[in-house]
Amino acid sequence: MNREFQSDFLVIGGGIAGLMFAIRAAEFGTVTVLTKAGSTEANTAYAQGGIASVWGVRDSFESHVDDTIRAGAGLCDRAAVESIVREGPEVVRELIRLGTQFTKIEHGGEDEYDLGREGGHSHRRVLHAQDLTGQEIMRALWEAVRTTPNIRFYDEHLAIDLLIESRARPDARCWGSYALDRRSGAIRKFRARFTLLATGGAGKVYLYTTNPDIASGDGVAMAYRAGVPIGNMEFYQFHPTCLYHPEAKLFLISEALRCEGRDSQPARRRAVHETLQSRRRVGAPRYRGVTSSYRRYSAPWRR
Ligand SMILES: Cc1cc2nc3c(=O)[nH]c(=O)nc-3n(C[C@H](O)[C@H](O)[C@H](O)COP(=O)(O)OP(=O)(O)OC[C@H]3O[C@@H](n4cnc5c(N)ncnc54)[C@H](O)[C@@H]3O)c2cc1C
Repeated sequence: MNREFQSDFLVIGGGIAGLMFAIRAAEFGTVTVLTKAGSTEANTAYAQGGIASVWGVRDSFESHVDDTIRAGAGLCDRAAVESIVREGPEVVRELIRLGTQFTKIEHGGEDEYDLGREGGHSHRRVLHAQDLTGQEIMRALWEAVRTTPNIRFYDEHLAIDLLIESRARPDARCWGSYALDRRSGAIRKFRARFTLLATGGAGKVYLYTTNPDIASGDGVAMAYRAGVPIGNMEFYQFHPTCLYHPEAKLFLISEALRCEGRDSQPARRRAVHETLQSRRRVGAPRYRGVTSSYRRYSAPWRR
């Protein structure tokens, strides 16, 4: 049976972005969260190393911004870097408030967060939960979502396309989304006053990737079809460095394994340097290609 669902907010995607938004939005109205596979199948669950944020007393926002701009080899938007770096600690504190247990160590008789240091960072600033940070974040966020009365969630519901008033009008409103219930095969209409696309990346378009199958850029495609300008498509995280096995899914060799505590050894230092260089090499040419094709293919009224 085709059914129609109504809420104030529709959140398409149940990774870190979608769930944190859903928890906040639930203070203002009813929220529906859709995930296209099982509830925890998201890039977020695969994150290993941790979250970089200014935390230690000797660290500073300026240093984190400088490191990021340097690692970005001139491709970063400084304003975006500044705001992400400065808002980082508060977002990490919110994750902790929601129940995320980052790893701690004892220092001077007191427990403090065990800050890791990864390639490109000049200070220890990576909060992590052992080497399974994403799983721990997903555990805490889903627990919070399940106990928040205003939130309903539907797993195995694949959003197909946005409900748009009229695609011909650039100011047309979005009223939700159609979604396929993958268990029953029914198409359902989820109506909402506000719709958030939090469908993650598109790493799966690459032959070799550590991303799970859900990372196929559905939200970007839906937004594009609705006339929304898109950009920075070349910066999807797909990890060019992974462990290959012919019969298994590719597995990320953790950043920490390659970097943490090993920078005194020349061979490892070279490996870290090559990894950063390879990230620049894979990013930069695609950046130029995508920018020109964006101009060519973007909707006429957006050019
Ligand atoms: C192996 C690996 C290791 C990583 N390690 C780190 C790390 O150490 N530190 C770090 O900062 N980052 C790391 N990352 C990157 C990080 O995981 C992602 O940037 C982040 O989790 C993205 O979160 P998200 O909420 O945007 O998307 P995701 O977590 O991918 O969530 C996307 C959600 O959208 C849903 N969805 C997609 N399409 C549809 C659709 N059509 N209909 C309905 N739902 C849909 C999915 O079901 C999923 O719930 C790593 C990534 C990988 C793959």
